[in-house]
Amino acid sequence: MFEKILIANRGEIALRIQRACRELGIKTVVVHSTADTEAKYVKLADESVCIGPPASKESYLNVPAIISAAEVTDAQAIHPGYGFLSENADFGERVEKSGFVFIGPRPETIRLMGDKVSAKDAMKAAGVPCVPGSEGMLPDDPREIVRIARSIGYPVIIKATAGGGGRGMRIVHTEAALLNAVQTTRSEALAAFGNPGIYMEKFLENPRHIEIQVLADSYRNAVYLGERDCSMQRRHQKIIEEAPAPEINPRLISRIGERCAEACRKINYRGAGTFEFLFERGEFFFIEMNTRVQVEHPVTELITGIDIVQQQIRIAAGQKLGFRQRDIVFKGHAVECRINAEDPFKFTPCPGKIANWHTPGGPGIRVDSHVYSGYTVPAHYDSMIGKLIAYGDTRDQAIRRMRIALSEMVVEGIKTNIPLHQELMLDANFLKGGTSIHYLENKLAAREEVVKST
Ligand code: ADP
Repeated sequence: MFEKILIANRGEIALRIQRACRELGIKTVVVHSTADTEAKYVKLADESVCIGPPASKESYLNVPAIISAAEVTDAQAIHPGYGFLSENADFGERVEKSGFVFIGPRPETIRLMGDKVSAKDAMKAAGVPCVPGSEGMLPDDPREIVRIARSIGYPVIIKATAGGGGRGMRIVHTEAALLNAVQTTRSEALAAFGNPGIYMEKFLENPRHIEIQVLADSYRNAVYLGERDCSMQRRHQKIIEEAPAPEINPRLISRIGERCAEACRKINYRGAGTFEFLFERGEFFFIEMNTRVQVEHPVTELITGIDIVQQQIRIAAGQKLGFRQRDIVFKGHAVECRINAEDPFKFTPCPGKIANWHTPGGPGIRVDSHVYSGYTVPAHYDSMIGKLIAYGDTRDQAIRRMRIALSEMVVEGIKTNIPLHQELMLDANFLKGGTSIHYLENKLAAREEVVKST
């Protein structure tokens, strides 16, 4: 096992990784920007290194500074967390070339999965069901493009192969709009991602977002840790996640889970990963794979009792998975609310000083957050300031505990989306379970209408 790990991230995940390390008896080095000097996890770490000014490009994305920090502190491995450099294959390569262990998949796997067309090809070859669409990249010939769209059937979605973060996508409803949309998406993709490659998929109109968590070691052992339902989204950003997904036959889950584990063995996957699917009328359609730990990993930890971050570290250290698929037991239900520093109605970010912070507790409640009373939320980064996770024997109990937790939670000095979560925890359709990825946007639009008409 490693003696010292460098954490190349910030916020709640930096603290989460630190806690995993401490439990494993590993010392931690945290790198931080000047905007995060006062963060709790910086003080709690065994060592900390300031790597630059607030702008991410000069700190959390500053590869030479991060590598130097690992060198001067004698860290053996680097955990990238999520976001920032976590899915950057070049970074993984630099880390390994500099003699450190990258806590994540091999750089070539990150590269394969980072390009959506090659990821889809690899998944198809591995027997994972994908959204029907073009065979690989779209050609230049307009007639050929029209033919492909007809064979898929409208509506279609044009997507950039290098896209990410919900950008580089365009929905097309009619043939008349097709070629223009293709042209625009192509030039946008080139401008935004430096890669003009685009592909076409059937646009699914009312899907749910269901994802499968996997773990794989370096010896081709791979397991799936069940599914998460992350359909409650705004602008492709998840805000509530839960496990298991309501109203999906466990047999369907185990079938798709087995396929994902098998795909991991086929592509020689290493570490934790997530297969993201759109789920419609009982069918799963792969859209992309995330080759890192995800924000919503705690809901899976609570229903399986497996510490995903510790597993990432053990796998990176060359250990074999300590359990097989049949050892994994799914028990109870967990719901996570992402707490964002933002206006709960207008969604504008709301950084600033937290005058008073009081977290809930009690049976089944977990709070993953790095903030405290007197902490100033910097304006430079993501607005998520913490995650509230509730566990119960049943979905109903988890939701009831979440309501109590939200009512106990005090955040003063800045606005948060807690009122929105409170509303959603009483929403009849959410309570029924199984809402689509458009549900929240539609609900918010309807609320806007009501505000306008009064
Ligand atoms: P990104 O990497 O930018 O997150 P994804 O491929 O994961 O891109 O797609 C992001 C979101 O866009 C999905 O969660 C879904 O809401 C929507 N989307 C993508 N592909 C389709 C599709 N074929 N049909 C319907 N919605 C889609």
